[in-house]
Amino acid sequence: MTLIASHRGGSLEAPENSPTSFRHTAGLAVEQVEFDIHPTADGQIVVIHDATLDRTTNGTGPVAAKTLAELRALTIAGTADDRIMTLGEVIELFRPTGITLRMEVKSDVEHQPYPGLLAHALRLLDAAGMRGRTVVTSFLAPIVAEAVQAPGLAGRIWLVSPVIMDDCGLEGVVATAEAHAISHLGIRANRLDARVAAHLRAAGLGVGAWAVNDEASVRKVLDLGMEVFTTDIPTRALALRAERNGL
Ligand code: MG
Repeated sequence: MTLIASHRGGSLEAPENSPTSFRHTAGLAVEQVEFDIHPTADGQIVVIHDATLDRTTNGTGPVAAKTLAELRALTIAGTADDRIMTLGEVIELFRPTGITLRMEVKSDVEHQPYPGLLAHALRLLDAAGMRGRTVVTSFLAPIVAEAVQAPGLAGRIWLVSPVIMDDCGLEGVVATAEAHAISHLGIRANRLDARVAAHLRAAGLGVGAWAVNDEASVRKVLDLGMEVFTTDIPTRALALRAERNGL
């Protein structure tokens, strides 16, 4: 069965990466919850998408330039008074559920990896006994390669951007995956078709999709038999999958 990951907590159904969206997702029958991590200036890890605060909070500037206390003083856009969550809090929210964490390790404002971020996140997961229920994803192949070297995770997925697909072609994507011992890819839904899926599978790669945000796209990735997809409309995606499976 194709697994469904509620993207940023289901960001077309609730404000992204917020307590509201994660509580919403925790009540759904999805298999995974997707979220994004950045470090703070004082050695904590917070859950927020962008490297800067401007789009999704009432703050400004780089996330990593602020302390946790400074970040906690901000309100998440679109909410009454939701505050940015730590990674530890998101882990604890989902630990009692059966939902797998799909943790995207983000890069800084210069699109460079944050040194030590994945290792730090793994320590927090281990403290909660949740490493085995966590899939690590990243658009940066070296970060995924680092996750490949970390034993015990539920999965590691390289998110292939359309720019990379255009620049490298499918052969280049496969070569990059092989060079980093990456076994699973995430392809943007609007760049995915039967030919792409067949090419990648023939190379021995597992294939999933991301940005599956309308009914036609959901149907397409189900028809293509994707392993997993992220969606901002998890409730609708669940209904479409159930309908397709005759449930
Ligand atoms: Mg993400």
